[in-house]
Amino acid sequence: MKYIFVTGGVVSSLGKGLTAASLGTLLESRRLRVVLQKFDPYLNVDPGTMNPFQHGEVYVLNDGAETDLDLGHYERFTNCVLTRHNNLTSGQVYESVILKERRGDYLGKTVQVIPHVTDLIKHRIREISDENKYDIVITEIGGTTGDIEGLPFLEAIRQFILEVGPQNVVNMHVTLVPYIKAAHELKTKPTQQSVAKLREIGLQPQVLICRTEKPLDHDVRRKLSMFCSVSEKAVIEERDVEHTIYEVPLTLHAEGLDQLVCDLLHLQTPEPDLADWQKFVDRVVCPKRHVKIAVVGKYMDVRDAYKSIYESLTHAAASEDCGIDLKLIDAESLEHGDGQLKDAAGVLIPGGFGGRGIEGKINAARYAREHKIPFLGLCLGMQVATIEFARNVCGIGNANSTEFDKNTPEPVISLLEEQRGVHNKGASMRLGTWPTKIVQGTLAEKIYGDTEVTERHRHRYEFNMMYRDRMDTKGFVISGTSPDGTLAELIELRDHPYFVGCQYHPEFQSKPNKPHPLFKSFIHACLAREVGRAPRAPADPLSPRRVPETELVAQ
Ligand code: GLN
Repeated sequence: MKYIFVTGGVVSSLGKGLTAASLGTLLESRRLRVVLQKFDPYLNVDPGTMNPFQHGEVYVLNDGAETDLDLGHYERFTNCVLTRHNNLTSGQVYESVILKERRGDYLGKTVQVIPHVTDLIKHRIREISDENKYDIVITEIGGTTGDIEGLPFLEAIRQFILEVGPQNVVNMHVTLVPYIKAAHELKTKPTQQSVAKLREIGLQPQVLICRTEKPLDHDVRRKLSMFCSVSEKAVIEERDVEHTIYEVPLTLHAEGLDQLVCDLLHLQTPEPDLADWQKFVDRVVCPKRHVKIAVVGKYMDVRDAYKSIYESLTHAAASEDCGIDLKLIDAESLEHGDGQLKDAAGVLIPGGFGGRGIEGKINAARYAREHKIPFLGLCLGMQVATIEFARNVCGIGNANSTEFDKNTPEPVISLLEEQRGVHNKGASMRLGTWPTKIVQGTLAEKIYGDTEVTERHRHRYEFNMMYRDRMDTKGFVISGTSPDGTLAELIELRDHPYFVGCQYHPEFQSKPNKPHPLFKSFIHACLAREVGRAPRAPADPLSPRRVPETELVAQ
């Protein structure tokens, strides 16, 4: 078993997660079995309660774990399917150490960071590797070297290397090499200091991943090599990508990272086959046509808040050889008019919590329904589409979710307990993978080509089945339910080319060359609607980056 530890230096937001995931892509393409894991030094037990403004989206795993969005990169960039064991926070570490202490497991001893906290961290690395399913464990340590919270993790790694032997470990440090305009120079000092900080703790990186705006010239590479005690070929340039994050594995490969890591770990592997990945990138970079998708949500300035959705749109669009023009609309701005939706080929409403912007989202759903614009509602997006239809088509004027109006007389969306007449009972979230039975003869069945699917959930409220028949007669179809038929999972409108909502989050199961059927069919419907209109920003048909039709990857 081999181990790669990824630390970050100088500043946060360097894309460590993306770098770790990209290395995963490269190693998998060398036929190695890879698993990724993230250590987050903050004291929250999980990011489930954090504000998307601060922390980006909460990424949900099959087992219902609410995790850091970097786990989304890991799953998208590799074949690994993660569980709650793949994300460890300081909050979880201290929680279990204290629980053990209370149980008397450490009886007679003083409980300390070393060895009790560090032992627990090491145990988590071993736990994954013991499964014997993998050749390499890549562990990313969140935060920046020098953060107080990160120290126990780095100390645990130092001890771990001693236990498994340095020949089985690569320490990779992702760092910033800033360009100072006034001096026309790339500066190596911040990296030198960050590496010095790591050495103070007893860790010596073997690889430096240098995030930079400009190419690293020979002098800069030599300087970094000498001051940081890293061989010159292990100074890897990771320049800001020009078009898409999916270029990162290709640029790291061009810098020789995968070969270098295999050499450092004494692994004999075949040359990687990146042809499919390259084709996917080419299609993202140079699509045949573009389609404008309006996303109506709450956190439109925070790119990370709906990360998996934007990625899923990219995957689906590439599979249709088209690019996405994203139009991000703050739901509140739609409360008094829908003019902004006029040029959209499709409308997508993401998941969310709380009442802010709800009326704007309802207006967006109405606009898409009335103008026959393809619509995809995810979780809360499905719930607002339901409220809209109940109000404006079924004439249930007061229709609402009890999430926004606790005492609404027409709870078309409510807690299951409320539906059963039990009030004031706190329901917990429905999390993780649940099966959906698809109703035959529906659009959903065509989209999935299957009658049972499993999808990831993260919500409390449900469609109220008491309204099913009333809404069905008006054209609102429940096209997927839980296997026992009690919970609505999918909805669609009979009299609309593409109006689909799902109670779950398909965005957590889309990959570059394996787009999710809901996103793919949504983009397909948007393109179909655009037929006849002049394509916007057509790509140069002679561009060397265009992928010939015959070479498109079969989806
Ligand atoms: N707020 C809604 C619920 O709890 C939707 C949640 C979501 O979109 N993830 O059911």
